[in-house]
Amino acid sequence: MHSDGDHIGAPMASLGPMVPVVSPRAADTDPRQDILGLAREDLRMALLAIGVPDRQANMRAKQIWQWVYHRGVTDFEAMSNVAKDVRARLTEHFRISRPEIVDAQYSSDGTRKYLLRFGDGTEAEAVYIPDEDRGTLCISSQVGCTLNCRFCHTGTMKLVRNLTPGEIVAQMMVARDDLGEWPASTDNRRVTNIVMMGMGEPLYNFDHVKKALQIVMDKEGIQLSRRRITLSTAGVVPMMLRCGQEIGVNLAVSLHAVNNETRDEIVPLNRKYRLEQLMEACAAYPGTHNARRITFEYVMLKGVNDSDADARDLVRLLTRYKLPAKVNLIPFNPWPGSPYECSDWDRIERFSDLVFKAGISAPIRTPRGRDIMAACGQLKSTSEKKRKSETLREQAALAQI
Ligand code: SAH
Repeated sequence: MHSDGDHIGAPMASLGPMVPVVSPRAADTDPRQDILGLAREDLRMALLAIGVPDRQANMRAKQIWQWVYHRGVTDFEAMSNVAKDVRARLTEHFRISRPEIVDAQYSSDGTRKYLLRFGDGTEAEAVYIPDEDRGTLCISSQVGCTLNCRFCHTGTMKLVRNLTPGEIVAQMMVARDDLGEWPASTDNRRVTNIVMMGMGEPLYNFDHVKKALQIVMDKEGIQLSRRRITLSTAGVVPMMLRCGQEIGVNLAVSLHAVNNETRDEIVPLNRKYRLEQLMEACAAYPGTHNARRITFEYVMLKGVNDSDADARDLVRLLTRYKLPAKVNLIPFNPWPGSPYECSDWDRIERFSDLVFKAGISAPIRTPRGRDIMAACGQLKSTSEKKRKSETLREQAALAQI
């Protein structure tokens, strides 16, 4: 059943439907197939289907792949090493699309937030966060989310559907377009890391996320190493092992509470997959060792999960399961009508100290892009009230960048 929003605003968020129903896409006016997001083999098959001879298909697929993912080209006519008649046929049957950028906001700290609209009119967001030694792009895996974590704004959105592999990859393409990152070089990149921490639960859209990340990691395209990609899950236990085995990226877990009672309330998925099962799945995650630790995200909610006892229980929990772990303490980013407050700063520091003293790294994640409401789901809902139509360039001019 589709999320009908009955639970929204209820004192206790209901568990909600677990696997999102993909809503029918509105008729797209462009009948041509979008090749963005096709796996290499699917691209080859698509070429065969439009009459590219078998003996050429491999070579053509490779050429097109490099133009699309190494050079960022969106026009087949620019593919100068592809024969003219083939280019014409490609243009007739295919396109290389980008989602519409409905809104782009540039924070004074360098954070850039994009609200993207896909072919069926649904929207999702991506956020670019530059740091001294890296630039991280936070990508969405779904429009909306079925999980209804009580502190998360995305959970209050009604519409939920899985993003396609092309729509997931497109978020990277849009950021690279905006940052001028073509051709894709491995030196001096601005987007050096990806975190699947935008809207949605990536492990409820496993196949599409896997396909998209395989494209991003491909050696002849964007070439981002799997060590630079982190997938964050609220704890979809049955998919965690496959994530490690089949995608092989770093794992982050939205823990947020150290006992089932509190976690049941703030992360309702916990009622389905208990804390103990989650920790066991973490302990079994492939490729985890001291140099490649699991990140545990912990949002600091005043009076809910931020006591000294919680900090000690957190250490006990991570130690009991012998997990090479780091903890990210996230100051709660409030949104209009949110049922929680952020813990006081000295409380967050004390919590961090207690965990650090036990030998587990627990940095406080400095809030970024606060002036543009960069927390999950916030741009989308703001824009629903205040629709903007500026192009990215106009936005950039406004932000004086
Ligand atoms: N569904 C996945 C990924 C999306 S949420 C997951 O749950 O991990 C990405 C991270 O942002 C999660 O750790 C989530 O708990 C956190 N988050 C969501 N809303 C927040 C808010 N208002 N303030 C701080 N962190 C928030």
